[in-house]
Amino acid sequence: MICSGERVERRPRHVLSFDIEEHFQVAAFWSVARRREWDHLASRVERNTRKIADLLSEHSTKATFFVLGWVAERHPGLVKDLAQHGHEIGSHGYGHELVHTQTPAQFREDVRRSKQILENLIGRQVMGYRAPSFSITSRTKWALCVLVEEGYRYDSSIYNRFRGAQERSITGAGAYQLETEAGRIWEVSPSTMNGCGLQLPVAGGGYFRLFPYAASKMFLKSLEKQGAQLVMYLHPWELDPQQPRMDGPVLSRIRHYMNLDKTEQRLRLLLRDFNFAPIHDVVDPIRDMYTRQGEQLGQIVAKREPVFLPA
Ligand SMILES: [Zn+2]
Repeated sequence: MICSGERVERRPRHVLSFDIEEHFQVAAFWSVARRREWDHLASRVERNTRKIADLLSEHSTKATFFVLGWVAERHPGLVKDLAQHGHEIGSHGYGHELVHTQTPAQFREDVRRSKQILENLIGRQVMGYRAPSFSITSRTKWALCVLVEEGYRYDSSIYNRFRGAQERSITGAGAYQLETEAGRIWEVSPSTMNGCGLQLPVAGGGYFRLFPYAASKMFLKSLEKQGAQLVMYLHPWELDPQQPRMDGPVLSRIRHYMNLDKTEQRLRLLLRDFNFAPIHDVVDPIRDMYTRQGEQLGQIVAKREPVFLPA
């Protein structure tokens, strides 16, 4: 029972998301030769993702996991466990192909295939998609139309970092609606903050590993004070300092391997200092769709044809 005058802390709830892929699948080290080796390289994704899930469990936190179809095929138990523990499953595509390296037909096949694999595993509709390396840009806007046609309800692939700060207001950021020829889709962009006339990235990945945690916290608290809903992202390989080192361009190696030994502790601090939840739980319009269509979402979905939920 809450006594008169007792204050109940209601911290704002932000978005925490993870892109579930192997360390050898990142775009920075992509090559045709390495792509052919994928099935022969040592897998570390399940161990690293379960480490993340344990950390979240310690903090009673749920998150959104954008899982690669290729990973889901090889680690179905991992995907099922994440879903059964209350985490949201989204799609990271099937083969980690950048959007601008695919034709629209290839992209459609990639996002359809991953969606079907994930839905067959978890028995409910996958609503969200995140492109490898946030590769939906002004050059590949057609991809949003394909996502709508394939039954996705939101996208989280547009990362407006280093663009003019006035192009979009930060306050109230989190989700905004985009029109496509196939209909509307919600966009949930990773957080940026205004600085030097630009939108500066502060939402995770390499930027989270680059800055000392105190600096990241200061940036994120400043956004929180402006009323922004934070949208953060990390990858399982970022918590794995022992991962095998790959050959590649010097800058890619610096960016990929920098501060891997610090990410786990920084994630612990992030979970202590901020209140996170999955996208379908805290981004208002998506939560509304998820709640309203709960019965349909709870059913096993069709395995062949894309599913279109009623408007
Ligand atoms: Zn990725």
